[in-house]
Amino acid sequence: MIILKILRINQLEKESLKNNLMKFSPQKYSLPDLSMQPFIDANEIWDILKNTTSSKTAVDKIIAKSLSKQRLNLTEVAVLINATDTASIQAIKEGAKTLKKNVYGNRIVLFAPLYIGNKCQNNCSYCGFRTSNKDAVRKTLDDQEIINEIEALEDNGQKRLVLVYGEHQDYSPEYIANTVKLAYGVKKGNGEIRRVNINAAPMDIEGFKIVKEAGIGTFQIFQETYHPEAYANYHLGGKKANFENRLTSLDRAQEAGIDDVGIGVLFGLYDWRYEVLALVRHTNHLEACYNVGPHTISFPRIKEASGFVANPNYLVSDNDFTKLIAILRLAVPYTGMILTAREPAKLRDEIIQYGVSQIDGGTKIELGAYSKTLNETQNLNKGQFKVNDERSLNEIVNELLDKEMIPSFCTACYRLGRTGEHFMEFSVPGFIKKCCTPNATLTLAEYLIDYADESTAEKGWKLIQKTVDETENKKLKKSLKERIERVKAGERDLIY
Ligand code: SAM
Ligand code: SF4
Repeated sequence: MIILKILRINQLEKESLKNNLMKFSPQKYSLPDLSMQPFIDANEIWDILKNTTSSKTAVDKIIAKSLSKQRLNLTEVAVLINATDTASIQAIKEGAKTLKKNVYGNRIVLFAPLYIGNKCQNNCSYCGFRTSNKDAVRKTLDDQEIINEIEALEDNGQKRLVLVYGEHQDYSPEYIANTVKLAYGVKKGNGEIRRVNINAAPMDIEGFKIVKEAGIGTFQIFQETYHPEAYANYHLGGKKANFENRLTSLDRAQEAGIDDVGIGVLFGLYDWRYEVLALVRHTNHLEACYNVGPHTISFPRIKEASGFVANPNYLVSDNDFTKLIAILRLAVPYTGMILTAREPAKLRDEIIQYGVSQIDGGTKIELGAYSKTLNETQNLNKGQFKVNDERSLNEIVNELLDKEMIPSFCTACYRLGRTGEHFMEFSVPGFIKKCCTPNATLTLAEYLIDYADESTAEKGWKLIQKTVDETENKKLKKSLKERIERVKAGERDLIY
């Protein structure tokens, strides 16, 4: 099944892909994987967790399996989750670091969230936008305000956005599709948005089709918690209170032809060990039904939001958070992993090395904040939760360069119809060297010329030179040098 999907992804790569297929034997589940049918059995997940013991030897064996590019099954993931001794945890972190380095190289993709509207008919107790929060000033950006925001984002150098919406009748599929088209249409100077992802409420198949038509990248829907009873405790009204409707929503997206989907958990609502296993179970479900796993996994941790008091038993410590990210990297090695500015800068810098592939930069979540000055921002209504990394995009780029990581604004795969790009990065030998690194380098060159300050530009050009020098393939090296010169001469959007 997986083979068919891969062949559809990119005919040209099929021979190498065949040689690099993941050897994955899923377990038998009490709820079989049927499309648009629930697939989470909470007792089963707990049984696996409770009946699995961990040892350093077992952990090492499982890490070796993952490093040989094989997907882990739920029992193996549970062994990693249950590892509590220092040596095993260190091995898990080192394993994730090695996997990231070997498979993905040193790129980090950058994006920004853009909140379009905070009207919401749901009552998620943890969210500042919930309908019962009477302190929230409700607002939807009008077209001109969206244009202003996107121009401001383009002026900062952003090329990739995730548009975020509350769940409200005003935010229909048609409305969302229009905002996506609007975003693609805004061009300022050399600025343009080349990929628009969506984080919005689940739709029916027809709705997903309408949004797909607008040319979206990934559609993200986070389950928040995969535990049905915990879910019921937090979701106190509106459509989102229906656990199964949300659980099967990305199946409907797939049925509508959206094969780049993003899953996620809001860590801090329920036991993190259960949620990690459930994320892998969701991945297995998508693979079984649609021959492709999620494009990205997100792992927001619950942050302070107006009037919400979290259950201290479920708050995830920094150490457990780092461990769970490393486990996810090892468990689903071909999937993009997103770490947002909900987390403080220092922790983000530390965690990136364990497998994160995308971060947001220069994030503002108050409606209309990108186009406002700082003083004006103080007067904007409160965001959905508290952002903890307030660095500008330029500061983040500068600091990534210090670590010799290539900040990338690449959108090539999506625009060349190469969906499933993370799978290719993972499984096509040479794909990273042939496509991802040169594309990251060219988009960085664009950024340095158009938007960077002096210090960032100096560091950036040094890293670009180093990357060119280290390009082994002579033909590619020559072509990359030529293209960098073309970018310097004013051309943009040259992609491999
Ligand atoms: N309204 C849509 C929904 O609920 O799916 C999409 C937008 S919602 C604003 C995006 C995500 O923000 C949610 O899925 C949730 O995981 C996260 N979120 C909500 N409240 C949060 C909080 N207090 N701290 C951190 N993340 C939060
Ligand atoms: Fe509304 Fe989404 Fe917030 Fe829930 S998480 S209250 S659905 S915006």
